[in-house]
Amino acid sequence: MVHAVVGAQFGDEGKGKMVDYFAVQADMVIRYQGGGNAGHTIVNEHGKFALHLVPSGIFNPDTDCVLGAGVVVNPMNLVRELQKLEQAGIPTKRLVISERAHLVLPYHIWQDQYEEQTRSKKVGTTLQGVGPAYQDKVGRFGLQIGEMRDTARFRERLQRAYEGKLRQIPELADMGSFDAMWTELMAAREVLLPHIRDTIPLVREAVRSGRHVLLEGQLGIMRDLDWGTYPYVTSSSPIAGGTSAGAGIPPTAIDRVTGITKAYTTAVGEGPFPTRLDDEIGAFLQEKGHEYGATTGRRRACGWLDVPALRYGAWLNGYTELALMKLDVLSGLPTVRLCTHYELGDRTYDMPLPAYLLEQVKPCYEELPGWSEDLSECKRYGDLPAAARRFVERIEELVEVPVRYISVGPARGQTIVRQP
Ligand code: GDP
Repeated sequence: MVHAVVGAQFGDEGKGKMVDYFAVQADMVIRYQGGGNAGHTIVNEHGKFALHLVPSGIFNPDTDCVLGAGVVVNPMNLVRELQKLEQAGIPTKRLVISERAHLVLPYHIWQDQYEEQTRSKKVGTTLQGVGPAYQDKVGRFGLQIGEMRDTARFRERLQRAYEGKLRQIPELADMGSFDAMWTELMAAREVLLPHIRDTIPLVREAVRSGRHVLLEGQLGIMRDLDWGTYPYVTSSSPIAGGTSAGAGIPPTAIDRVTGITKAYTTAVGEGPFPTRLDDEIGAFLQEKGHEYGATTGRRRACGWLDVPALRYGAWLNGYTELALMKLDVLSGLPTVRLCTHYELGDRTYDMPLPAYLLEQVKPCYEELPGWSEDLSECKRYGDLPAAARRFVERIEELVEVPVRYISVGPARGQTIVRQP
């Protein structure tokens, strides 16, 4: 069974927790896009971990973990992540990296920093070089990780790419040297070489033999390069369609798509966010939900659940089910709201909208009774207060996708499963 887990909002929905949850039964977990710029926070019996690149399946000793060709890899950061896991007693031998994954090189990070500083309007990148690495990939002067195998050829290719980059942005010459970069890369190469291979035979075999293959995305639909709030988007395709290209799996092989959404909305970085709350409720959600980025520590803006975005995602991703995360965070609010559509002047709007329009629209809400009970100990759907169940069922009606999982806390066990 091939099972894709995708972000239904702006990212940070709690995909990490759900992938960790599903990974218990998975034979293989594949990351299909993105780089080390987002972070998954995972809490399990081994402790608390912020994973940036390594698939969350790494905690399960029988699960193969794959970084697909659609991923971009900062080799130095990946080595640090692997070392941290090893130090915590988690074996990392089962990590396999597609030889086709592109490298995020030090000069990509310099470029990211330089460009974000000199831009008149910030994109709000995480300054990790992910965007520039994807630009080089598309521009056909990127370097694939498999090229590190042959050091002489790799050095020549790197030299040429680096010189090309300096011709493009001469200021980068002051931000670091080729030799320092080379030394770092060669140290990382030693650690990564055994993990690099052609992943197609491994993945094909897993799919053909009906093993449980989990596809793990980064970010969410609203940050998709093509279908998100361009230009406030990532440089790859987090949508379910991206799984096929990035992981090397035919689209017809995908059996199940779980959309992950919080019970409210959060976003980091710039760009439109119609349901954003800059009032005490926004502060309540931020505080209670600990809405700070796992990689950057940046505060996430918070607001009510944006149903048009969920419906839009339901079409694009073909969700077979939703997982509703952080329902516990809403406890204590007298009323809760769902944004059902938007308004501008005397017109109503639904998603998709281009960013400039999404920036202007006003959200229209449906208000439902809140609940005060602590949900963190609820094990079954029936344990939830009636108002919380009403909220869940209303989301289902509006999005027309069943909410199969409800998360009421960060731990694996704090997950309510509803039978279809
Ligand atoms: P991801 O990138 O989509 O995995 O999301 P993050 O890991 O950045 O953010 C999710 C955060 O919420 C993490 O700190 C999780 O431990 C936490 N979390 C996940 N599910 C729940 C939940 O149901 N309730 C609460 N209170 N926290 C949760």
